Amino acid sequence: MPRRYCPPEGQIIQAFTFALDPTDEQAAKISRFFGARRKAFNWTLDQMKSDLDRYHETGESGTPLSFYSLRKRWNAEKDTVCVNQNTGEVWWPEVSKEVFADGVRGATDAYWRWQKSRSGQIAGRKVGFPRFKKRGKDRDRFSFTTGTMRLEADRRHLALPVLGTLRTHENTRRIERLIAMNRAKILGVTVSRQGERIVAAVRVSVARPQRAGVAQSDSTVGIDVGVRRLATVATTSEVISELANPRALERRLSELRRLQRQRTRRTRGSRQYAETAAKIARLHTEVANLRQHTIHVFTTSLAKTHGVVVVEGLDVASLLQQRGLSGARSRRRGLADAAIGEIRRQLRYKCPWYGSTLIEADRFFPSSKTCHDCGHVQDIGWLEHWTCEECSASHQRDDNAAINLARWASLGSVGAPVKRGAEHQTESHSAAGDDTRKGSPILVGPNNSVRSAA
Ligand SMILES: [Zn+2]
Repeated sequence: MPRRYCPPEGQIIQAFTFALDPTDEQAAKISRFFGARRKAFNWTLDQMKSDLDRYHETGESGTPLSFYSLRKRWNAEKDTVCVNQNTGEVWWPEVSKEVFADGVRGATDAYWRWQKSRSGQIAGRKVGFPRFKKRGKDRDRFSFTTGTMRLEADRRHLALPVLGTLRTHENTRRIERLIAMNRAKILGVTVSRQGERIVAAVRVSVARPQRAGVAQSDSTVGIDVGVRRLATVATTSEVISELANPRALERRLSELRRLQRQRTRRTRGSRQYAETAAKIARLHTEVANLRQHTIHVFTTSLAKTHGVVVVEGLDVASLLQQRGLSGARSRRRGLADAAIGEIRRQLRYKCPWYGSTLIEADRFFPSSKTCHDCGHVQDIGWLEHWTCEECSASHQRDDNAAINLARWASLGSVGAPVKRGAEHQTESHSAAGDDTRKGSPILVGPNNSVRSAA
């Protein structure tokens, strides 16, 4: 398993990502490194597979399948593994040894995740046996964890082993300043391809200043992440604020749909097809960056401002698929699901930074279809506006859901609030739940692991 680096008391690990502007020569080296990492990954996987096969046939266990022992084996065999088949030339000296080590580590980590998953040591979806990586199917990347990794004082350059000094597309002042003040230390750098860009993620351990605490420590808010707006924030006293999808994002999404339609009219393998595909890739990156930025600003402001933040519980992605959504709405739903996952992930680490508390509501709490005035639960389908059958109150779907979530923290009637990791059975109100499969009650166990009750 990956060895987790534990930062000293008062320090946290953060990653800062910068787009790079490599020279042609550097870009060629980087491409080569991507391939070299895959080579080492696949070689390691192949070694592990044949070791396992031999073990099953003969019972011989051989050397342990650890990172250290496989890296040693790689170093002993790289002269025969890294040979250009046309020229007979040994090519490994042109690649940083860190890149090969990263590939070996990737394969051994994947193997041990599989082992731990099948023996039930890690919760969640079952992890499959690692697969061979193919160019184009595998994210191009490699990491450095030792050697020269330095952000230059001009705030426009990053120095890396073997590659030398790379120009950054953006200013690096966000992190260079912290390093110069000795408040941050570089732990590692991952170089990857994102769309058409080469980016470097600089992982640092940073000393976080002690904050004075959140601005409104007695305020509790519920967050509903939706399809129409990115998010709705409500207080227990029904004060609503909306976070719309940024207009720049909406524009790119409709452009993306247009290009995707265009691509279907073109012939695969043609020049025009490739051009459209490249535009689509670029737009995807822009959309991802914009969304990520919006969500970061949003979660920081939530964590800094409110004493208690309540969000929907664990994803129910697999259950949502069963609803048979299709077309634009399912794409939207997909975006909303990804957004809630990301918002929850960011709040989990940001809330403790600023001294606010994050509560994740029970995943079967029917926040959308419970009337926040009288507590009546009714089926509302996909309606945006609905009227309560019991008390005739009219509701906007997202506002109502956010208010219910805000009150979840203190409501006794729908069950005790769950903090993450708490053991909690949900059968009592799963009948009214949003996501219940008929006939098979679902239990949420420790660590949010989900299983169907037989
Ligand atoms: Zn009502």
